[in-house]
Amino acid sequence: MIQFSQVTKRYPGGHEALSGASFSIEKGELVFLTGRSGAGKSTLLKLIAAIERATSGVVSVNGQNVGRLSRGAVPYLRRNIGLVFQDHKLLFDRSVIENVVLPLDIAGFDRREALRRARAVLDKVGLLNREKARPVSLSGGEQQRLCIARALVSRPGLLLADEPTGNLDAGYAADIMAMFRDFHRVGTTLVIATHDERAIGDGGERTLHLDQGKVAEAAA
Ligand code: ADP
Ligand code: ADP
Repeated sequence: MIQFSQVTKRYPGGHEALSGASFSIEKGELVFLTGRSGAGKSTLLKLIAAIERATSGVVSVNGQNVGRLSRGAVPYLRRNIGLVFQDHKLLFDRSVIENVVLPLDIAGFDRREALRRARAVLDKVGLLNREKARPVSLSGGEQQRLCIARALVSRPGLLLADEPTGNLDAGYAADIMAMFRDFHRVGTTLVIATHDERAIGDGGERTLHLDQGKVAEAAA
């Protein structure tokens, strides 16, 4: 589903965030990305979602070279990707539930079905009682859970999450990881960047380790 061939990403200013990365991720895999802050984890996820483009090498997703996608084609790529990033991009002029309903509105869902699904996923992340609140009134951890709800509501085939449990206390972190594992069980592909040991667990999962932009397979 995801293939990196000799991918290098250099940001303006010359810093090489990713150096000659080659690996592939099959449909349905759950993969953890580990490595210190600054190792290149976010960059790798952004390349998959075409938020950033590679300086050299090829990133392909579902057989498409995402570095070659036109501006117009990027929303089609993203339609099947759930994104949980640090810069939340929540809509602060809309309520919690409207933030979650939005992706379903865009996908053309019936309003009642959209609200039903949104409430179900808000319940899962423990925010059902805040559905009418504005995101600005939520704590950092609650905003993070709202982002996760929004990313999962349209049941994407691929979920990319950057430190999804970083701001969460142990209880919520465990709940969110359990949710991710449920999605994994029904065939969703997940790539989760984290340095949260609690998230990775003991379960023999595939881990890609990043060190100064270089990717290596690691024993889980
Ligand atoms: P991680 O997610 O592992 O913390 P990042 O992918 O965010 O790592 O960053 C990798 C390296 O690239 C870091 O040295 C970071 O400072 C640099 N970097 C990330 N984003 C940018 C950017 N937009 N412009 C310049 N340098 C960046
Ligand atoms: P724009 O540049 O117009 O804000 P983008 O191309 O960045 O749009 O985003 C396209 C879609 O992907 C939007 O639905 C946006 O909400 C989502 N998106 C982009 N980046 C992020 C992110 N970091 N976290 C969550 N969603 C994102």
